[in-house]
Amino acid sequence: MRHFDVVVVGGGPAGSSCARQLTADGASAAVVDRADFPRLKLCAGWVTPQAMAALDLTPEQYPHSFLTFRRFHVHLFGMHLKAKTLQHSVRRYEFDDYLLARSGAPVFNHYVRNVVRHDGRYVIDDAFSCEYLVGAGGTKCPVYKTFFREANPRAKILQTVTLEHEFSYDWADGDCHLWFFKDKLPGYAWYVPKGKGHLNVGLGGMADKLKSRGGDIKQHWSRFKSCWATNPSPATSTSNPPVIATTYAVTSRQFVSTTPSLWAMPSVWRLATSAKASDRQS
Ligand SMILES: Cc1cc2nc3c(=O)[nH]c(=O)nc-3n(C[C@H](O)[C@H](O)[C@H](O)COP(=O)(O)OP(=O)(O)OC[C@H]3O[C@@H](n4cnc5c(N)ncnc54)[C@H](O)[C@@H]3O)c2cc1C
Repeated sequence: MRHFDVVVVGGGPAGSSCARQLTADGASAAVVDRADFPRLKLCAGWVTPQAMAALDLTPEQYPHSFLTFRRFHVHLFGMHLKAKTLQHSVRRYEFDDYLLARSGAPVFNHYVRNVVRHDGRYVIDDAFSCEYLVGAGGTKCPVYKTFFREANPRAKILQTVTLEHEFSYDWADGDCHLWFFKDKLPGYAWYVPKGKGHLNVGLGGMADKLKSRGGDIKQHWSRFKSCWATNPSPATSTSNPPVIATTYAVTSRQFVSTTPSLWAMPSVWRLATSAKASDRQS
């Protein structure tokens, strides 16, 4: 069994950032992820300047596909609103791999199934042990499931269903577009161009609302695609893009708060970049 001061479960941006800081501060920290990086991650890849600053990363340093867009478009009930902005886009396939390698922490490809507390340490699948444990496993985080879910369950009403495609495409429109509530979708659709000739398009909505309206995310997706085919702007003036990959996922978002009962369990953190918050038990 391998022992570390800290084991970080999940090597996405939350886990790799945490591991990087711990390593820089002299702790022996390891990252354990079920995926072999680089890995696919369902995400439009829109990155704010604040996120770049928090990651201690400048556009000049980043070696992969990177695009800065200075305008975004909102399409709402037939209106088309434009706003000046300064935002970035990346491909998560590259971005997460880069951040994880940059962390300097050893990375283990391992599917975490069982986490127990034993003799004052955390033991993971009899393969790793640690003094401190960090859960950064995203929506399926096993640390969350083991130590946090009961006290802090995810609200089913916040569950979303999403579909997206990311593919090579010679786009002409380098701005980002968002369509809200199109065709009664309880959510929004997006067009996010990327550097080096890639494009990400997708849509998502609140799962419960969609179901109660008798809607189907795949029907929305078909309509979204056919809308580009007949009206090429903003998806460029060339033909309909080839579909390289389809990803389908049901995901959930939640806003967490520190629950007093959690303080009984020592030295476990759950990091959640999507929830813009972290829980700590210490
Ligand atoms: C469709 C969609 C579009 C989005 N678009 C944007 C956007 O444009 N901009 C933005 O900022 N955010 C966006 N998000 C949200 C963003 O993707 C998340 O906030 C972000 O990925 C969370 O990062 P993380 O490091 O917490 O988790 P993740 O990036 O999800 O990483 C978690 C890691 O944990 C690993 N893991 C999970 N379970 C286990 C296990 N049992 N054992 C070992 N490893 C495990 C996974 O393999 C994964 O690598 C989007 C999300 C979705 C679903």
